[in-house]
Amino acid sequence: MRTPAPRARELRRQGALAVLRQVHARPEVTRAELARTLGLSSGSATEITARLKALRLVDEIGAPPTGGRGRPSPALTAHPEGPLVCAVDIGHERWRLATVELGGGLLDESSGRHRDRDSGAVLTVIRRRIAEASHTHGARLRAVSVAVAGTVQGTRIVQASTMRWRDVALDDLCPDPSVPLLVGNDASLAGLAEAMRGAGTGVRALLHLTVEVGVGGVLVMDGRMMTGATGAGGEFGHLPFGDPRRQCPCGAYGCWDLEVDGRAMARALGRPAPHDPRADAEAVLAEAASGDPASRAAVGTAATALGRGVAGLVNALDPALVTLSGLGRDLIETAPDELGSAYLGGLMSFRHDDPPPLLASTLRGDGTIIGAAEVGFDAILTDDGLESWSTAVAGP
Ligand SMILES: [Zn+2]
Repeated sequence: MRTPAPRARELRRQGALAVLRQVHARPEVTRAELARTLGLSSGSATEITARLKALRLVDEIGAPPTGGRGRPSPALTAHPEGPLVCAVDIGHERWRLATVELGGGLLDESSGRHRDRDSGAVLTVIRRRIAEASHTHGARLRAVSVAVAGTVQGTRIVQASTMRWRDVALDDLCPDPSVPLLVGNDASLAGLAEAMRGAGTGVRALLHLTVEVGVGGVLVMDGRMMTGATGAGGEFGHLPFGDPRRQCPCGAYGCWDLEVDGRAMARALGRPAPHDPRADAEAVLAEAASGDPASRAAVGTAATALGRGVAGLVNALDPALVTLSGLGRDLIETAPDELGSAYLGGLMSFRHDDPPPLLASTLRGDGTIIGAAEVGFDAILTDDGLESWSTAVAGP
């Protein structure tokens, strides 16, 4: 058989990439839907999926009968021997790791609590777990993507105030230097996941905020995180929406962070600063739910501060939708009136007729790990990524 001309080869590769990206974005999409979405003939869709199957990238599963004439179109899904991303979430108190397949399905997961919040101790545990995943999955593991509760530039954590980390390099986390290592902020990655697979799916401009210890987030435009020149953007919690006399662990005064979480609730209740603000916030929410008026008021104070700040961000960034996860989700459920009236009160009047809705995240605790995996698959679903996978599967 003649070798295809370069132009034809290029078109075939583009077709294969487009199909792969569709299967990743819409797991179990049928071959007929795929052909319609991408404007492919039925013959081309069949030919491309056959090649992707041979390359162990996608698999076909029988579709339910359509009830109409003709054979039902098979659904496309991740190949059981296909590429994987090792996604890691390093939080304030805990870590979590999962291998993730095409389409975002989480496979083997593990998690634990930091015994010691020292960066060396935490990263030793993570390094060992990544090495185990690498050993188990071999060449199937195509990227390691790490989410951290801190400010990230490239593969460095420049500041993680609540864990007291400064300038921590993550370059040596992966045992195989040929596997790309990607690092991002946890709240930003949760926002990306929300835009790709959660409450913000299909929304052009999504503002996502995660409240855990403090608040972070991201504006996601057309599926891209707006994280600035170095990747360190999205530190919304360090906007000076708080009391200018109060110093934040980040070094600045008056940060919004200090007004919306367990630290704010403890102050409102006249309690000492909590060691674990997230766990304390949970306890105050439970006290509020059982009817304790002082706890109810403390929750309302945090919800009000959250609502006012969200209004400021909406005035500045003009999102179509705002999603909230973590404690933000709890505040929507527990104190909707305080949150809603502070939000509306802070909006410019032209927005009052049609304010962007505030919705609870639908991905709950999985957003960060799913977002980390998305960034990993962005690196795999490229010309180079496909080339290198083909070589790994079929040999050079
Ligand atoms: Zn701060």
